[in-house]
Amino acid sequence: MIFIFLHIGIDDTDSPEGMCTTYLACHIINRLRDEKIFIEGSPRLIRLNPFARFKTRGNGGVSFKINIDGFSKEKIYLIKKIVLEDVEKLSETSCDNTNPGIVFFQGEITKEMENYAMKAIYSIISIKEAEKFLNKINAEFHKFKKGRGIIGSLAAISCPLKDYTYELLAYRKKENYGKKRQINKDSVYLMDKEVTDTFENIDLKNDYIAIEPRTPCPILYGIRGESLKGLKLAKSIVKTEEPIESYCIFKTNQHTDMHLQKIAKISDMEKYGCYIITGYVKEDPHVIEGGHVFFKLGDDSGEIDVAGYEPTKEFRKIIKQLKTGDQVQLFGGIGCGGTFNIEKIRIIELKNKQVFKNPICVCGKRMTSAGKNKGFKCKKCGNKLPNGKKIVEDEKRDLIEGKFYETPVSARRHLAKPLCRMDL
Ligand code: ATP
Repeated sequence: MIFIFLHIGIDDTDSPEGMCTTYLACHIINRLRDEKIFIEGSPRLIRLNPFARFKTRGNGGVSFKINIDGFSKEKIYLIKKIVLEDVEKLSETSCDNTNPGIVFFQGEITKEMENYAMKAIYSIISIKEAEKFLNKINAEFHKFKKGRGIIGSLAAISCPLKDYTYELLAYRKKENYGKKRQINKDSVYLMDKEVTDTFENIDLKNDYIAIEPRTPCPILYGIRGESLKGLKLAKSIVKTEEPIESYCIFKTNQHTDMHLQKIAKISDMEKYGCYIITGYVKEDPHVIEGGHVFFKLGDDSGEIDVAGYEPTKEFRKIIKQLKTGDQVQLFGGIGCGGTFNIEKIRIIELKNKQVFKNPICVCGKRMTSAGKNKGFKCKKCGNKLPNGKKIVEDEKRDLIEGKFYETPVSARRHLAKPLCRMDL
């Protein structure tokens, strides 16, 4: 059997005030279905570099493909017409930062295209560079306004998906956009318990329903999982007190750590890149105003400031316990300020397993120093130990060597692989 695919990529259609490229793709797919034109497999939602400057939220591009073997020129024209019409009509083009781009590519995805996609995940690509490459591979592309979306559209078509997950996105009726979402919380808890191959539904510690977006976009909820079957079951359990206009399940690189590059040296890391890096804590963590925690990581090649920001909530308690000399492996990336943002951490070795402490008095209180070479005194009962020595105690830290710790669901990046998906 011959498969001749027309790949369609769409990106940069939304603004912080509305729309979502996944919704637009779902709208197009439904219109194509009305014309008896069906897509092959699942549409794809591909997350790109989390530090791309012009992203609206999660820097995602969308693609899908159609087997056009035996299609007339008119039928292919109709497909493109529907895509172009919908992107033009539904995109938030009144927003300065919304610059849609569409790519149509006919043929097999090449290694060179895969490399382009990896570059869009690992680093930053210019519109000019994307355009040059599109011309080289003979792809048809359409730019609206600046057309920046072509960068992500081509990456969404080209991205290899060895490891992948799915996300089921349910969309609201237009009249409900911007209103409080009516999702039955108990049903989400029930779904989380019943459908074990879904994940990141709830941030249990913070009682935060993570399937519910907090933006005025068309999405009512998004459920992430390992299988189409599990997601369909999950949808049947989650109850909403507002109607669902439509839904679509995307195959995605979300939660795969695809953005992380393994490197050996701190000096090899670059701004806007995401890495797995091993090093030593060079300076005890400190907290600054706003509750952000910082420390320095170092190796033979250099040092970098590392941050656990306030939205990472209880994760900061882990970071705060690090001590100078600890060896750790960090997963995360370098933002525009040059600071490494941690997504997860593995404790390799804790430096001081034993600490020297002042002795405990017979009354039970820890003694304090009585002055240089004067031993210890007890502030509670007045007892003195002029010849007393510091005692060695096992250090009490809530950290375990070899263990991974991750940011809570509410603060997790789309691409970050949760520990529940890791082979630990
Ligand atoms: P949402 O997640 O709400 O759909 P978004 O966060 O995906 O929105 P977009 O509105 O799609 O944000 O804007 C991201 C823009 O950045 C797009 O124009 C996309 O082509 C571009 N882009 C994506 N990856 C890169 C990259 N690596 N380098 C430069 N530009 C990029």
